[in-house]
Amino acid sequence: MTKIAMTTPLVEMDGDEMTRIIWQMIKDELICPFVDLKTEYYDLGLAYRDETNDQVTVDSAEATKRLGVAVKCATITANAARVEEYGLKEMWKSPNGTIRAMLDGTVFRAPIIVRGIEPCVRNWKKPITLARHAYGDVYKNVEIKVPGPGKVELVYTAADGTEIRELVHEYAGPGVAQGMHNLDDSIASFARSCFNYALDTKQDVWFSSKDTISKKYDHRFKDIFQEIFDAEYAEAFAEAGIEYFYTLIDDAVARVMKAEGGFIWACKNYDGDVMSDMVSSAFGSLAMMTSVLVSPSGVYEYEAAHGTVQRHYYKHLAGEETSTNSVATIFAWSGALRKRGELDELPDLVDFANRLEKATVDVIESGRMTGDLALITTLPNPQKLSTRDFILAIAEELRG
Ligand code: NAP
Ligand code: MG
Repeated sequence: MTKIAMTTPLVEMDGDEMTRIIWQMIKDELICPFVDLKTEYYDLGLAYRDETNDQVTVDSAEATKRLGVAVKCATITANAARVEEYGLKEMWKSPNGTIRAMLDGTVFRAPIIVRGIEPCVRNWKKPITLARHAYGDVYKNVEIKVPGPGKVELVYTAADGTEIRELVHEYAGPGVAQGMHNLDDSIASFARSCFNYALDTKQDVWFSSKDTISKKYDHRFKDIFQEIFDAEYAEAFAEAGIEYFYTLIDDAVARVMKAEGGFIWACKNYDGDVMSDMVSSAFGSLAMMTSVLVSPSGVYEYEAAHGTVQRHYYKHLAGEETSTNSVATIFAWSGALRKRGELDELPDLVDFANRLEKATVDVIESGRMTGDLALITTLPNPQKLSTRDFILAIAEELRG
């Protein structure tokens, strides 16, 4: 069999733990037998990040800017326990945070809908796509542990030395304080990414924040969205028969629960983090979710939305059989290959990406799935497969 050729390499960002094991299996069984895979490889596994003082993460983001399309494996975000476990030089920052800050843009997450895995919100009939702003707010905060009585102020100093000063709080005793920021440019590109994605996929956009309480910060987001919509998108939306509206986040949450889906829900960075986990879990599983970062400069990074599945990894290390769901990681690869195929005008590569996704869905709909899905499926007599057997079943399906 001749393999499908590629012209431009993908940026390959390898990761940690169980997802690193799955990563290799996907390449060996589902991609390399069919595609003459070209990648520029970056090892974002924690050990190598530590060895390179996290330079490898920065390099991988730079490579993504240069080559245009990346596929990323889940990675450990270091915490105190990981510093000890891996003997780290430092508690390195979240690679996702570093990469998102460098690429800017918006993360779009949508559930992978499969017959037999029904959302627990009964009225959800269509996918809900979460658009998460990928810059700033609490992910780029500065914090102070206030030791005792005193005051905390927020000070802006202009180039000419003039100041704007706001008292945060007059402390009578110990406490905490936090400073956050965002940028008009980043908010504007977030808005444009959402509106473009809406036109691409013919879906309404809902944007929600808490501008009644955050009268300057959140309000700025609301204003920028509205200005850009009115000036650049209103006409195209009307033609496409779709709409944009703003609503308070608490109202949005209530409406989402009653809606039937089929829209894009744009959220600020933290809201998007939390809401995407909620929506994906309600649709079935974190492992049944696609995730792509779209930067304003037209660069794409595909990933799985879940973590490194640590508990399964330790079982794997102990020689026990695991049944870890690889669907989100497979769809990260298929998403990246499809985008590469579109950009490089390689219809065979696009077709392969579509077939890989279809084979994955078909295996599940035939009743063969990993343990997380077997627990919740409405299909009769599901067959629970191991991590490897599930991937092998997809490979067999792909061969037809
Ligand atoms: P996690 O890896 O997402 O796993 C949490 C639990 O969810 C698992 O223990 C498992 O439940 C279930 N689960 C998640 N993905 C699954 C899959 N593919 N198949 C089957 N079950 C799955 O989150 P975590 O345990 O909180 O975090 C582990 C590490 O991942 C941390 O070091 C964290 O920093 C990192 N992380 C990375 C990313 C990323 O790179 N995108 C995102 C989040 C977290 P059961 O154990 O009950 O089976
Ligand atoms: Mg999260």
